[in-house]
Amino acid sequence: MGKQSRRKRLIVKHNPAQTPADLPVRRPGKFILVALTALVLVTILFLTSSKPVRKSESVPQRSVPTAESSADETKVAMKKLLEDRPRLIHLLKNVTAGDQEGTMLAAFLEDEGRFTRLLANHQTIEMAGNTTFKVVIASRPDRIRAGITRRSLLDNQFIFDADERALIIPELGEFTDLWGGVVATHELRHAYDLIRNIERPHSTGDEFHQGEVRAYELEIRLLDRYAKGAFTKETRAVQESHRGEDGDPYKHEDRPRLDAFFPPAVGVDEGAVRSGLYLTAVYFAGIDPKSKDVARQKRRIVAMLYERLAAK
Ligand SMILES: [Zn+2]
Repeated sequence: MGKQSRRKRLIVKHNPAQTPADLPVRRPGKFILVALTALVLVTILFLTSSKPVRKSESVPQRSVPTAESSADETKVAMKKLLEDRPRLIHLLKNVTAGDQEGTMLAAFLEDEGRFTRLLANHQTIEMAGNTTFKVVIASRPDRIRAGITRRSLLDNQFIFDADERALIIPELGEFTDLWGGVVATHELRHAYDLIRNIERPHSTGDEFHQGEVRAYELEIRLLDRYAKGAFTKETRAVQESHRGEDGDPYKHEDRPRLDAFFPPAVGVDEGAVRSGLYLTAVYFAGIDPKSKDVARQKRRIVAMLYERLAAK
C-alpha cells in the first residue's frame, strides 16, 4: 500500500447489520464564545490537495469551494472544538485508567495535542498552545466538504498522518466511547513514537511492524482491562475452536463472542475496526507466551495481515 496510508488501521469490512448506538446523547454545556475566541489562533491551509491521488481510486471528489469559511461556520466549529477537547481527554483518561502506558498517552494528548477542526477550503480552526502534533476532528461529510481527495483520509476512521503530524479522528459519538478511546490510543501511540523519535516517519519492515505491534498490544490490554480479563481469555478460546481448520483462526461468526464484552458498535465504521482488532487479537492469542520469540511472531502476524490488506 502507498505510504500515505501506511498508518491506516487494519479494517475488515464484512459487517452484519449494526446495532444502534447505546450511548446517551450528551448535552454539551453552554460556552461563552466571546471569551473563548481568544483561544483560537488562526486558520491555516491543511491537507493540501497537491498530494497525488491515484486514478484508480474511486473516491467521491468535489472541487474545492472558493468561498472563504463564513464567520458562522467558524463560530460553530469553534464551539464544537471547545466542547470536544475536554470530552476527548476525559474519554481517553477513562479508557486508559490504571494502565501506565495508556495514561501516559492520554497526558501526551492533553499536553501536546493542538485541537483543530476542519472548515471549508481545507482550512482548520485551531486552539492555541504549545503543541507537537495536531488533533483533527473531522466527520466524513466534513472531509468530503473540505475537498479532501486522499483515500486514506476519506474513510471515517482514526488515522495518524505522519506527514501532517496529525491525529485525524471522526466526530465524537460516531464510535462508542470505549472503542473510540481505545482506537484513538492506538493512533496516539504512533504519534508519540514519531514525535519522541522512537520510530522514524514512513518506517518499513520490522520497524513498522513493531510499531503496529506496540499499538495493538496496547489496544488489546485496554479492552481486556475493560472486560476484566475475559477478552483475551475468549480470544484464546476462539483460537482453540478453529484449531486444525484452514484459514484464519477468527471467523466472522465469532464476532458476537468477542463483542459480548463491549457495548454494541455504533455503526459500520466501528464494526470494521472491531473486526480488524479481533482478527489480530485472535492471531496473537495463538502464540505460545513461553516461546522465546513472541515479539518476532507478533511482527510476522502483523506483516502478514498488512500484506493481505495491501493486496486488496
Ligand atoms: Zn497502527
